[in-house]
Amino acid sequence: MALTGLQIQKLLPKTNCKECGSNTCLAFAMKLAGKKAELSECPYASDEAKAILGAASEPPVKALSLGEAKVGGELYLYRHEKTFMNQTVIAVNVNDTADGLQETVDQIKGYVLERVGEILTIGAIAVTQTQDDPGKFIEAVKIAAAAGRPVILRAKSSSVARDAASLIKDCGGIIANATPESADELAAAAKENGLILSVTGATMDEISPVTAKLKEGGFNDLLITIPADTLSQNFQLNTVARRAAFGNVKSMGYSFLRFIDTDDMYDILRTSINEICKYGGVVVFPKLDIALISTLMTLRQNIYTDPQKPIQMEPGIYKIGEPNENSNFWLTTNFSLTYFLVSGEIEGCGQNAWLLLPECEGLSVLTAWAAGKFGGDMISKFAKAQGLEESQKNKTMVIPGYVAQIKGDIEEGLPGWNILVGPQEASDIESFVNSTLSK
Ligand code: SF4
Repeated sequence: MALTGLQIQKLLPKTNCKECGSNTCLAFAMKLAGKKAELSECPYASDEAKAILGAASEPPVKALSLGEAKVGGELYLYRHEKTFMNQTVIAVNVNDTADGLQETVDQIKGYVLERVGEILTIGAIAVTQTQDDPGKFIEAVKIAAAAGRPVILRAKSSSVARDAASLIKDCGGIIANATPESADELAAAAKENGLILSVTGATMDEISPVTAKLKEGGFNDLLITIPADTLSQNFQLNTVARRAAFGNVKSMGYSFLRFIDTDDMYDILRTSINEICKYGGVVVFPKLDIALISTLMTLRQNIYTDPQKPIQMEPGIYKIGEPNENSNFWLTTNFSLTYFLVSGEIEGCGQNAWLLLPECEGLSVLTAWAAGKFGGDMISKFAKAQGLEESQKNKTMVIPGYVAQIKGDIEEGLPGWNILVGPQEASDIESFVNSTLSK
């Protein structure tokens, strides 16, 4: 739980020596409370202060690495308080007896979605043992591990899980379904191979003492899986467990691993939406359904974007195709989504062009204009600062149809330029090009 400035001051030497750069220990304590200073800046902090403040500065939800992804580490219960930190990892399950296993693993590995400048991939492959022959499971784990993604082991027994653990040492991953009975044995295997352990039990009361005991024993790379029969139960359990973590119940301070075990597309959709919106750490889809996963990747991106910072492009001039001094200019704001929509449409109709993005703090066209950040004067100055008047023979600029009213101001600021009012929607760019620019 976060300490106040006064509580922190009581732990400091109170000599006001100023060596930390603050005039008093209280001023330094206030900075620590506001996370604007580090305790290491005070050379005289006692071991007791380090221990207490170190524990107090731990996030309520344990942060872990799963391959290239981060899981947990959340500092806020609600996204609107500031932001959620680490996206729910999307994983896909393969069964050990599935036909065409290698092909499916290749497809999972090959899945890439580029959206608003982010490259989105499937974060892990889960392997489920569906029959009693451990050999088949081990073979399937080897195939999954060769893809280089973290692997989630879902074996039928702890001895099979333990045997498979060493096979995923290099790619990393999770040993799933450690029960109160098998937790110690599987924690040892996870520790030995640098893996995460997911603890499950019939209820939170059953899981809580297991995670507490493992942590006390020195192993804390944990996730939890709380079984739920219905969507509402799933929602409730995730919420209660996360609130408990933020209420300083350390034994619940872990991200959730959830397997979705149904073939019903709407159940998969509902459960995965619940996990992405309500604190899921890793969600395992029962199969690779590209349309469904791409939709949920988009949802995830929306939920895990800092609501106080619109995703934005660096202001500047961007090339579309192979533009030259005779190419047209297009204008829009530096809101990433707008940039990718507009650039995609211009490129899609075979235009070589320059796309001009002035600094608009990542706002969309109408919002930026309404906030006074996308006016004719500013755009003219921005174009001049880029040296366009000297470098370009073709001085044609297409401006967004939503801000047709700034055309005159740009013409005044850039005499001799041909300012065209383009379409309001990016989807109408092709017809605008065909009807206006191709003449
Ligand atoms: S360095 Fe430590 S003891 Fe000195 S003023 Fe800062 S907090 Fe106080």
